[in-house]
This record gives sequence, structure tokens and C-alpha cells, in this order.
Amino acid sequence: MAMKTLIDLQRCIGCWTCSMACKVGNNLPDEDYRITVRTNGSGAGIDRPQGVYPNLRMNWQPIYQKSCDMCAREIAKGYPQYCVSYCPTKAIAWGDEQDPESDYSVELKRCLDSHFHIFELPAREGTRANVTYAVRE
Ligand code: SF4
Ligand code: SF4
Repeated sequence: MAMKTLIDLQRCIGCWTCSMACKVGNNLPDEDYRITVRTNGSGAGIDRPQGVYPNLRMNWQPIYQKSCDMCAREIAKGYPQYCVSYCPTKAIAWGDEQDPESDYSVELKRCLDSHFHIFELPAREGTRANVTYAVRE
């Protein structure tokens, strides 16, 4: 069994609900984030697009920190992870990559069928392993 997370970046609207749900659900202190949301834009900060109006580009990328334990306590009780269940656009899927019927596998197939680019962050980013991204090229 290999549990993995897939994030469909086409569905991510940068709302940070995943991050806030994690903080509240896990009762984390203010400075502790297990998932943050990166703006892929100008690099000047959150929600800063690249380009010149009206040709602006920006998208968002949830980043799992190594401190994320995949809500092991919730999973043991039979509940999904806070970030997965509260994402309003269903951008995050989780499951066994070897099970073709898992949410992860079903969503990955949908993204592959749509010819999305599939990638993972390099190890030098220092983020949690087993997170896959899908984006339309
Ligand atoms: S993954 Fe979902 S909850 Fe998180 S920022 Fe994107 S749309 Fe919002
Ligand atoms: S899986 Fe759980 S601990 Fe990890 S980021 Fe999501 S809500 Fe937080």
C-alpha cells in the first residue's frame, strides 16, 4: 500500500481553507502551518500576478510541510483529513496509488486523460513526500 495525495491545480482557487481547516482541526498554534498555499505569480507575495495588465497570470499551489502527519489520528477513526474534506473545490484527493478505485487513482486517471502535466516537488524543497500535482499545460 502506498498512500499518496494528488492536487489538481486547475481546481485550486488559493482560498487557504485547507490550511485553516488543518490549523483548527489539529489545534495548531498560530505560527504552526502543516500546509500553506504558494502563489505562482510575480514572486512579490501572496496573490501577486505576473505579467502586465490585461495579460496577467497567477495560480496557486498548496505545499505540504514535513510536519504533516496525514491526520493519522482522524484516519485511524475512519475520518478523512481536514484539508481534503474541507477543500471547497475538491482539489485534493488521497488514497492508495496501487488501488485503481482509490480517490487518488481515480483523480490521477482523470487528469492523465485530460493530458495534464503530472509532477512532484524536488527533494530540495524540503516538503512532505508522496504529494503529486496535476496542471494543464
Ligand atoms: S487546495 Fe482547496 S482549500 Fe486549499 S487553497 Fe486550493 S482550493 Fe482552497
Ligand atoms: S493531512 Fe491533516 S495534518 Fe496534513 S495538512 Fe492536511 S489537515 Fe493538516
